[in-house]
Amino acid sequence: MAAAQPCVLLVEDEAAQREVLSYNLEAEGFRVVQAGSGDEGLLLVSEEMPDLIVLDWMLPGVSGIEVCRQIKSRQDTKDIPVIMLSARSEEVDKVRGLETGADDYVVKPYSVKELLARVRAQLRRTRGAAVGARLSFEDIVLDGETYTVTRAGESIKLGPTEFRLLSQFMEKPGRVWPREQMLDRVWGRDSYVDTRTVDVHVGRLRKALTAFGGSDPIRTVRGAGYSLG
Ligand code: CA
Repeated sequence: MAAAQPCVLLVEDEAAQREVLSYNLEAEGFRVVQAGSGDEGLLLVSEEMPDLIVLDWMLPGVSGIEVCRQIKSRQDTKDIPVIMLSARSEEVDKVRGLETGADDYVVKPYSVKELLARVRAQLRRTRGAAVGARLSFEDIVLDGETYTVTRAGESIKLGPTEFRLLSQFMEKPGRVWPREQMLDRVWGRDSYVDTRTVDVHVGRLRKALTAFGGSDPIRTVRGAGYSLG
């Protein structure tokens, strides 16, 4: 049931920068595939079908812009989030103007922490919350790195949708989530499911979480939605 570790393709020709970034991404629980040129990057996109691409603008041979354009024009890769790195903010403006389809832009020199936050934000959009994070609420522990959940030490079996739902709840305990917002965040904006689907999966999540006893941690807020705790 565990979803695979998210894979990040890093396309950057400067080896030192690539190493630092790769090290930090791996420390966050990502599997990292490295490419030192645009051509290599494009090849690895097809081979690995990564969950996200961090793409440098200035590359020898095929430029980052061209790589991005190709990724975004292909049906099978166009939904992979691309974060472009560029040396100057004017370049970012230019990338935007060129409509390469990049999902986010980070200007060099960037802080690794900020870039990681952007990576997580993009993956949250496409894969659900809590990517690579370890979250806990009362006796429930969710490990976004190994995609496991335990309650009072017992392993809880969850399907991918229930896992994403729980991640979302555990990011903000006590917050009431309207069903529409849950649909956006867990199923994605373009999905064709209706709000009753949310109820079905919340039901499954509740059942799984109470399988070994313990009270139901999810609260139904009438007319509003659901909250954890
Ligand atoms: Ca470069």
